[in-house]
Amino acid sequence: ERENAALSSELVALQARTETLNDQLHEQEQMLLLASLTQVHSRFAYERRLDEEIAVSLRSGKPLCYALWDIDYFKRINDEHGHQAGDAVLAQVASYLSRYTRSNDFVARIGGEEFVVLFPDTSIEDATMIAEKLRALIAAAEIAVEGVEIPVTISCGISALKPCDGGEQLYRRADEALYAAKDAGRNRC
Ligand code: GH3
Ligand code: MG
Ligand code: MG
Repeated sequence: ERENAALSSELVALQARTETLNDQLHEQEQMLLLASLTQVHSRFAYERRLDEEIAVSLRSGKPLCYALWDIDYFKRINDEHGHQAGDAVLAQVASYLSRYTRSNDFVARIGGEEFVVLFPDTSIEDATMIAEKLRALIAAAEIAVEGVEIPVTISCGISALKPCDGGEQLYRRADEALYAAKDAGRNRC
């Protein structure tokens, strides 16, 4: 009986410890999944989600669209207003992207001033319309850092999943489209 009682209390202690470890694990996973500056998903989360969305789309036959965003002349923003102001601009742009997309859409920061929005179950026409709305919204937004207004525009390239595609192809076509948007004068999709 004494041994049983000892084992029982050991078990209770172990359960409490497991719970604590679970909480810590959850917290660290959240940290890995969200980029701290911008509070949108990290590159790590993006790579995982992209593979999942591609698999779902190919299995279900529902379309998947991919929008690659890059802030225009961001180097100039840093040069004129400082790196910290640049960081604040990044955070505000990220916040627009996540606030004005749907809950099913997925927003990630995949590089310095580059973002991806995944549009599951969305046609290329609809994705283009939404991206265009986002672009216009950011161009019209009064983004200010410490009381100083900073004009910000963003360009976007959009691709749609084809049956033989992987993430690499989706990215490459969106990147080509983004390059064309930059080349055509920026602030466009
Ligand atoms: P373009 O319109 O062609 O995109 O011009 P750009 O100046 O935005 O492009 P470029 O790639 O030359 O510059 C990107 C700049 O973004 C350079 C880098 O210093 C800055 N940058 C990258 N990551 C961060 C960051 O986390 N914070 C800040 N403040 N700046 C960053
Ligand atoms: Mg860039
Ligand atoms: Mg840029």
